Amino acid sequence: MQLRYNYRVYPTPDQQEALARAFGCARVVFNDGLRIRQSAREDGLPYVPDGELSKRVITDAKKTPERAWLGEVSAVVLQQALADLNTAYRNFFSSITGKRKGRKVGPPRFRSRKDNRQAIRFTANARFKVLDNGRLRLPKIGDLAVRWSRALPAEPTSVTVIQDAGGRYFASFVVAVSDQPLPPAGAEVGIDLGLTHFAVLSDGTKIAAPKFLRRAARKLRRLQQDLSRKQRGSANRTKAAVKVARAHVRVADTRRDWQHKLSTRIIRDNQAVYVEDLCVVGLGRTRLAKSVNDAGWASFTAMLEYKAARYGRTFGRIDRFAPTSQTCSACGRLDGPKPLNVRSWICPCGAAHDRDVNAAKNILAAGRAESLNACGAQVRPAPVPAQRREAGIRPHAACATRSVEGISAL
Ligand SMILES: [Zn+2]
Repeated sequence: MQLRYNYRVYPTPDQQEALARAFGCARVVFNDGLRIRQSAREDGLPYVPDGELSKRVITDAKKTPERAWLGEVSAVVLQQALADLNTAYRNFFSSITGKRKGRKVGPPRFRSRKDNRQAIRFTANARFKVLDNGRLRLPKIGDLAVRWSRALPAEPTSVTVIQDAGGRYFASFVVAVSDQPLPPAGAEVGIDLGLTHFAVLSDGTKIAAPKFLRRAARKLRRLQQDLSRKQRGSANRTKAAVKVARAHVRVADTRRDWQHKLSTRIIRDNQAVYVEDLCVVGLGRTRLAKSVNDAGWASFTAMLEYKAARYGRTFGRIDRFAPTSQTCSACGRLDGPKPLNVRSWICPCGAAHDRDVNAAKNILAAGRAESLNACGAQVRPAPVPAQRREAGIRPHAACATRSVEGISAL
């Protein structure tokens, strides 16, 4: 399994300049490639293959006076920018042909220097290196100071350097880690992700989002209001925007930590975990959007999924169209839709139900039924941010006490 490990990095002014150049070159190569494919399409010409595109926007372009400066950055950075473009195209194609499940993916879009997030990726070919003195050596950038909030558990296969909207820099390493099956647990659990509680478990446990998280989210909302009152293009607006960006990152960091603790506990205590496959994208467009987006269910279920895979547990998503809150979990009677304000009800069979716990019980039952005739292919999860405080062996320069790994990269 692949995990991401994120660390804050502190480039010197010279290195910041070199990074800005590399971000720019990666962006130009990406946009040049996109432009070529778009105009080929408009002219009714066939799709430009990856190899030919790479030759045109990197190898040949470097020989022209307009793009000679592409030679100033690592070639791997440019190739990886094109690889991103190719992936974006593949996702788009498999989405329109229906091969890709989930929400529809649009065609790739041009990157801008004003994007909130600038990033470049170095693979092993680029010979990036974590030095014995704890610095991160990047070709044509230099040796960057890293705050090793924890050790890397193994040799990384790639590193992405990111500048976020708050102007901070991060190195995000992808590390392959081995599975670590836990001793079997007796229990199985269904989880209802709700609006009144963050999650309700089929055993009756109700989990509210913690106070500190709600407070941080409130502060963020206030800062966003401040920002909206500032005049466009003013210096005060820029300052307010940086504050908002920083608060955003803090809320995301705090929420992720809390979700990690919760998901680890649930995975440790249960042999099988089932959740409802919420149409978060659909809900996000309704007036429930605010609380839905704040809740961060997608990241939470992704954590459950990768931890289940890593620790030898079963994880299943239940069809989101199953009427889990309308069905009696005791007798199976379908009792019709209930408005959100109906928190509890009594089924004609005599069973008294808490709306959310009943839903969680139904999710558990549906999950068990599905896993009995399981045939769905196992999907390999994409690299996800690793949990803090995981044991590691390197590098030796681990020293920081305050954990600052931020952002959920990619
Ligand atoms: Zn009943």
